[in-house]
Amino acid sequence: MKYLSTRGDRSERGFCNILLEGLAPDGGLYLPAFYPKVDATTLARWRSLPYAELAFEILSLYIDDIPAADLKRLCTATYTETVFGTPQITPLKKLADAHEGGIYLEALSNGPTLAFKDMAMQLLGNLFEYELGRRGEALNILGATSGDTGSAAEYAMRGKQGVRVFMLSPHGRMSPFQQAQMFSLQDANIHNIAVEGVFDDCQDIVKAVSNDLDFKRKYRIGTVNSINWARLLAQVVYYFAGYFQATSGRVQATPERVSFTVPSGNFGNICAGHVARMMGLPVVQLVAATNENDVLDEFFRTGTYRPRATAETHETSSPSMDISKASNFERFAFDLLGRDAARTKELFGPTLARDGGFTLTPAEFARIAAYGFVSGKSTHADRLATIRSTWQGSRILVDTHTADGLKVAREHLQPGVPMLVLETALPAKFADTIEEALGFKPEPPPALRDIEALPKRFVVIAPEVTAVKRIIEAHCRDV
Ligand SMILES: *Cc1c(COP(=O)(O)O)cnc(C)c1O
Repeated sequence: MKYLSTRGDRSERGFCNILLEGLAPDGGLYLPAFYPKVDATTLARWRSLPYAELAFEILSLYIDDIPAADLKRLCTATYTETVFGTPQITPLKKLADAHEGGIYLEALSNGPTLAFKDMAMQLLGNLFEYELGRRGEALNILGATSGDTGSAAEYAMRGKQGVRVFMLSPHGRMSPFQQAQMFSLQDANIHNIAVEGVFDDCQDIVKAVSNDLDFKRKYRIGTVNSINWARLLAQVVYYFAGYFQATSGRVQATPERVSFTVPSGNFGNICAGHVARMMGLPVVQLVAATNENDVLDEFFRTGTYRPRATAETHETSSPSMDISKASNFERFAFDLLGRDAARTKELFGPTLARDGGFTLTPAEFARIAAYGFVSGKSTHADRLATIRSTWQGSRILVDTHTADGLKVAREHLQPGVPMLVLETALPAKFADTIEEALGFKPEPPPALRDIEALPKRFVVIAPEVTAVKRIIEAHCRDV
C-alpha cells in the first residue's frame, strides 16, 4: 500500500515511512492510495477471530513493509487481556432502552489510562520500538498535554527501546488523578515537564522547538499526535469488532447493518469509522457528537467549516472534546470532494487562512448523506441528565464524553438498526461531574485506587523554549 497526501503530494511512501512522520511535506494528511474492500466472505471469516488476529488482518491490508510474522507478533503483544481487561478487548454493554435493534456501549477505555486513546497508542508504542530497532535509530517524542493524550503516550512508550518522551503539561492545572497517572511513572525514558503557564504555553513551546529545523533534525524530534495514520488505522479495528458483537446470533440472510455514534473532537476516532465504512463494513450512520464546542456539528448541519479561536473555545465538562479545530477532518473532506487534492488544498490552505473558514457548494454538501454522516451536540445539562438516566435505567455509569455520545445517539435511532455508542473514557476520570449528576463519586479501578499517593517524578520550568531544549540536550547526552 502506498500513501498520498490530501494536498496532492504523491511521493508514494510506504507505511513505515509515514509511521514516524506528522504532516506530509506539503502540509496535508496522509491517506492510503485506496481503501481495500472487504466482501461478505471475508467478513464471515473475520467474525470469529480474536481481537489481536482481527487487528492483524486489517492492518496487513495497509502495511506491506513489515513482514507478516512480525506484524502478527506486534498485534498479539498489544491487544492482551492483561492490558485491556477482557478477552474481547472492546466488549459491548447493552442498555435497557426500548429501541428495537438495541443501544450498546462499546467499551474502549479499559486500557492503562482509562480512555480510548490507549487502543491506538499501545500499538504505536510497539510499532515505534520495532521500526526504530530495525533502523538502529532513536526518537525523542515531544508533546503537550492537558490530560488524556499525554498519559496515553507515556503509558504506551514507557520502557520502549529507542524512544524518549518529553511531555509538557500546565503546572497545577490537571486533575490530581491525571497528574498522578503521568507523574508516578518512574521509567527512565519518560520525562514529565510541568510548565508554569497554561496549555497554550505548552503547545507554543512544542511548536517553537519543532520549527527549529536544525534542532529538530539533530535531536530527532517526533510527535504522536492524532493525525498519525497508524493511530487512525489501529482504531478501524474496533468498528469491525463492535459490528461482529452486535450482530452475532442474528439471522445472516441479509447482511446486518449497524450505526455508530462517536464523541468527537479532533475527528480522529470517527474518521476511523469512515475508513471502516469505505472498506465495506455495513454501517448505516456515523453520528458525530460534540459538546458546546460544535465546529463539527455546525459543519454537518450547514456545510460551513469554521475553526474557532482559542478565546472562543469553551472549557466544558467533557474536556477532551474541547477543540477549536478538528485536525483530522481534512481526511474526510478529501474523500467527500472526490479526492480532488487541488480543491482540498485550496479550502484548507488559502481559503482557511484568508476567511477563517469555508462553505461547501450545495452539490458538495449534498454528498455528505452518501457517506452516512449526521451530527448533534450536547450541553453540560444534557450530559448530567444522560448520566442520571443511564444510571437509573440501566445501572451503568458513563463518563461525560460517553454521555455526550449517548444523548446525540438517541436523537438518531432508526427502527431495527443497532446503535453502537463508543465509550471513550471511564467515569473515574471525571469523578467531579459524576458526583454533580448522581451525588456520589465513581470508584476508580482497583489497580489505580492509591495512585495519588505514589511518589511523583517531574520537573517544573518557566514557560521558555530554551529550558525545554536544555532538558532534551541533557538527556540525549547521557545515553
Ligand atoms: C480524545 C478524546 C475524544 C475525542 O476524540 P477525537 O478522535 O479527537 O475526535 C473523546 N473522548 C475522550 C475521552 C477523549 O480522550
